[in-house]
Amino acid sequence: MASSTKRPRPRAAEASAQDRSRTAPGAVEPGAVESEAADSGAVESEAVVAEAEAVEPEAVPHVRVAVIGSGFGGLGAGVRLRRAGITDFVVLERADSVGGTWRDNSYPGCACDVPSHLYSFSFAPNPDWPRSFSGQPDIRAYLEKVADVFGLRPHLRFNTEVTEARWDVERTRWQITTTAGRWTADAVVAAAGPLADPQIPELPGLDSFPGKVFHSSRWDHDFPLAGKRVAMVGTGASAAQIVPAIQPQVGKLTVFQRTPAWVLPRRDRAITELEKRLHGRFPITAKARRGTLFALRELQVDAFVRRPGLLKLVQRLAERHLADGVADPALRAKLTPDYRIGCKRILLSNTYYPALAAANTEVVPAGLREVRGSTLVAADGSEHEVDAIVFGTGFHVTDMPMGSRVFGADGTSFAEKWKEGMEALRGSTVHGFPNFFFVIGPNTGLGNSSMILMIESQLNYLIDALTKLDEIGATAMQPTARAQRRWNLELQHRMDRTVWSTGGCRSWYLDKSGKNTVLWPGSTTSFRRATRKVDLTEYELILRSDDRAAPPALSASSARAASSAAATGTEEVMA
Ligand SMILES: Cc1cc2nc3c(=O)[nH]c(=O)nc-3n(C[C@H](O)[C@H](O)[C@H](O)COP(=O)(O)OP(=O)(O)OC[C@H]3O[C@@H](n4cnc5c(N)ncnc54)[C@H](O)[C@@H]3O)c2cc1C
Repeated sequence: MASSTKRPRPRAAEASAQDRSRTAPGAVEPGAVESEAADSGAVESEAVVAEAEAVEPEAVPHVRVAVIGSGFGGLGAGVRLRRAGITDFVVLERADSVGGTWRDNSYPGCACDVPSHLYSFSFAPNPDWPRSFSGQPDIRAYLEKVADVFGLRPHLRFNTEVTEARWDVERTRWQITTTAGRWTADAVVAAAGPLADPQIPELPGLDSFPGKVFHSSRWDHDFPLAGKRVAMVGTGASAAQIVPAIQPQVGKLTVFQRTPAWVLPRRDRAITELEKRLHGRFPITAKARRGTLFALRELQVDAFVRRPGLLKLVQRLAERHLADGVADPALRAKLTPDYRIGCKRILLSNTYYPALAAANTEVVPAGLREVRGSTLVAADGSEHEVDAIVFGTGFHVTDMPMGSRVFGADGTSFAEKWKEGMEALRGSTVHGFPNFFFVIGPNTGLGNSSMILMIESQLNYLIDALTKLDEIGATAMQPTARAQRRWNLELQHRMDRTVWSTGGCRSWYLDKSGKNTVLWPGSTTSFRRATRKVDLTEYELILRSDDRAAPPALSASSARAASSAAATGTEEVMA
């Protein structure tokens, strides 16, 4: 049974009602027709701004929902909010366009490791994917189109970085500070990305390196690589795409490899015109294709999470792939991992090994330790002269930057709260942070399938939560500490058997203490089940005003209504 937390709100009810009736710039009134929203939004927002300025020049705009980020997570949230009839929301984005990961990672060779018919929204199939594994430009274009087709443009606020979000206990709302002004919101959806903030190791001497330095996700396209001596630091998923793309152009490529990765063949091919026409005319065929891709990946989950021994067979395939790609036994030895396949992300490439074996490539089997002028010193003591350094060293994942910017009901930030490791209830909500919903929160990552499946599951949960709040007449909800603890105890118990814990590697899935707070130890189907509906017994509710009785339990019929509202939506074909 849900308990209620009543809070005194002196003069808040009046002020709150007044504020709530004011629509924030860019927020679209409920009922606006999706296709019209894009046209009318700008006009409407200008009118609303003018009105707000005339009445109260310093008023802080209020929205029902503030979404942070406009990648797959933020755009997906926008679509689902609109479909649930919630149009009073803004999407706050620090960059100047949508796309998230697929805007920021424009490095040579950048492409998806999951087939595009699965790495796309279920509600926005694209019959025109050009390849089975699409490249970054195509995925970015797809997201731009999603923003257009689903009428999200009026909600988008670019060049608006959220620098702080603080829960206001008195007024039961979020106070949000951005680089483009302040906002208040009933609820915040954090879709700021699990891999959005690049990590460059602190290396002695790096500041005085005379050449060019950049991270794989902030590629400098103005820097000519031709003939240059380039260092690639790191051998993860981005590096495996960058190395074969730049090796033919550069004079010399020096790859600093702390740990080799297991690599499997990439079954990529162009999608034929016939297939595209078929998928366009008979959407059921695209659905069947997506279903098959989904099922094949779900079948692999058991090996990753319960029976890592089954991965031996896959490891043999990877060994053969290495033998086929690298003739030199000394180089093969350097490139052979000493941990079980799957423990770190498995890379897919047909061109990585040949590029590493090329005459102008040197693999240094050690990390980069120090920079002395233009000389790079590896952990094994070897020295290498270079003109440019490309860091493929990953992202701030277990120390997400958003963590030190968000402060909950008792003034504590996520960063402080998560000193012992990130945790949430069902990857979505955190005790002490009312109405704060993560998209790709703690333990929602995947080792083998499409993150879009996880994002859509979390959006089901979000919409169900907002719908239930409305039905009950409550202002906010937060998980009970007990429910959150129980969820994480069970999750970590399951984690113990996975290949990520037993495979003998140290991956970016683990935090400083060695705890895996990144991956979901189960199938995407089980996560979908776990997030289909909000279980109110796991939550404390905060009521709109003092004089309201304790919230009623949801009746069976209202619960049904809530779930059907969350599941609404026809399919938009992105042709
Ligand atoms: C190179 C690369 C390849 C990948 N390949 C795959 C793959 O093959 N399969 C797969 O499933 N996943 C892959 N991923 C993971 C990918 O990140 C997710 O699949 C998905 O794109 C995440 O979407 P998102 O919206 O949650 O985050 P993002 O796409 O990262 O979007 C987050 C957005 O939030 C914005 N933002 C961040 N902080 C703030 C702030 N404070 N204020 C305002 N805005 C902010 C960012 O600018 C960004 O636009 C890959 C990731 C990378 C980096």
